[in-house]
Amino acid sequence: MGTADAASKDVTVRLAERKPIVVFVLGGPGSGKGTQCANIVQHFGYTHLSAGDLLRAECNSGSENGTMIQNMMNEGKIVPSEVTIELLQKAMLESGNNKFLIDGFPRNEENRAAFEAVTKIEPEFVLFFNCPQEEMERRILNRNQGREDDNIETIRKRFKVFEESSLPVIEYYKARGKVREIDAAKSIEEVFDALKVIFTTTVGKVVTT
Ligand code: UDP
Ligand code: MG
Repeated sequence: MGTADAASKDVTVRLAERKPIVVFVLGGPGSGKGTQCANIVQHFGYTHLSAGDLLRAECNSGSENGTMIQNMMNEGKIVPSEVTIELLQKAMLESGNNKFLIDGFPRNEENRAAFEAVTKIEPEFVLFFNCPQEEMERRILNRNQGREDDNIETIRKRFKVFEESSLPVIEYYKARGKVREIDAAKSIEEVFDALKVIFTTTVGKVVTT
């Protein structure tokens, strides 16, 4: 085994030993995942890890993968699993926390299967921010975060990728009773009220077995 393999194995083992609690936060672009994750962090002590933000930071750090990641993001395409998973594992280990909201990942079946195979971590549950496309489009075009991929052409591509590749992941977890769905078209306050109910009833239960 090479040094790089040994190092990543080490990260995987150290992370698995901590038995982290992971909640996947899924929903189309502009469905409000980032906004609500900030609320959940404040009230429930989770660490928020946005896969998109980690990838953007990796681009800005001038890493050797930077250009490839940037090009894929500008096309709304899904970056290879190993890149995203490594960033997520590193961020989880470095956080010092043990409860994570993983936002915007897994985005396709391959992401999902690779994360499970590499980390051996199963999500506690999966939040699905269900929002009509017109509303998501309106929000993205109004948010002005200076993101290169927030232009109408890339937005349409991202919607298509979401429908074709990410919805099947939600279906996978639905079939396993893991999805908590919320109506994300509502106001920020109303959505957070719904989330509070989910987080106070579904997590933090005392496990006796
Ligand atoms: N992305 C990716 N893998 C991930 C998360 C994000 O490839 O696990 C890329 C993908 O190109 C996506 C972009 O990053 O279109 C922006 O993702 P982000 O989650 O920031 O945007 P959102 O869809 O939540 O608006
Ligand atoms: Mg986001």
